[in-house]
Amino acid sequence: MELIDTHAHLEEIKDLREAIRRAVKVGVTAIIAVGSDYESNLWVIRESQKYGTSKLRIYPALGLHPWGLDTSKIEETISLIEKNINNIVALGEVGLDYWYKDARKSDNIKEVQREVFSRILNLAREKDKPISVHSRGAWIDCVDMTIETGVKRAVFHWFSGPLEALKKILDYGYYVSATPAAAYSKEHKKIIMKAPLENIVLETDSPVVYEGETAEPAHITKALKAVAELKGESIEFVAEKTTENARKLFKIS
Ligand SMILES: [Zn+2]
Repeated sequence: MELIDTHAHLEEIKDLREAIRRAVKVGVTAIIAVGSDYESNLWVIRESQKYGTSKLRIYPALGLHPWGLDTSKIEETISLIEKNINNIVALGEVGLDYWYKDARKSDNIKEVQREVFSRILNLAREKDKPISVHSRGAWIDCVDMTIETGVKRAVFHWFSGPLEALKKILDYGYYVSATPAAAYSKEHKKIIMKAPLENIVLETDSPVVYEGETAEPAHITKALKAVAELKGESIEFVAEKTTENARKLFKIS
């Protein structure tokens, strides 16, 4: 069984080498290491691949997360991404979050989020890169902006938005990712039940805490099991399909 963790914040994982060892044991053969800001992007560029092994490859993605966008660093971060664009497999983590504490209070913050996301979307279209999108509370805007910009490949990560947004995601051949929350979150389960397996990839969003447990890439098996149960398919079949989808989405072998 081969599994791909399509979204993990590896720089935040304690004792990453041991975590990678455990991931190899459960069949993880690739991880997409996403960046969120200037510092984590630097880590992804300079450090992430040192943790790869002959059995598990780490692929870099660079992004600018909508949380706490530091206006002084936006230009610096985007130019860092542009400089390294030919060495990455995706732009992520990027997107909008209207439920983020600052955005709830201020329309200006939402506007800054949209400006940044729009620049990233244009970069993705120009360079033909897939995007890994955070869309909490801003599901429709995220999907619409992606479509309007003409981005070809996208995964709406840990998607838990309305079915109306899911419909557009599927119409345009985009993907949603399932996390371990697919075992218990009503909103996330609903999406995974409705989306065909052809449009689903797996991820952990490590080191997010799910029901009291800090995630690491080996916990991809929890997402896998949850999807298999929701779909009434075997673990092996879901593993094969979602891994094939991830390879297509990120153009990795
Ligand atoms: Zn994330």
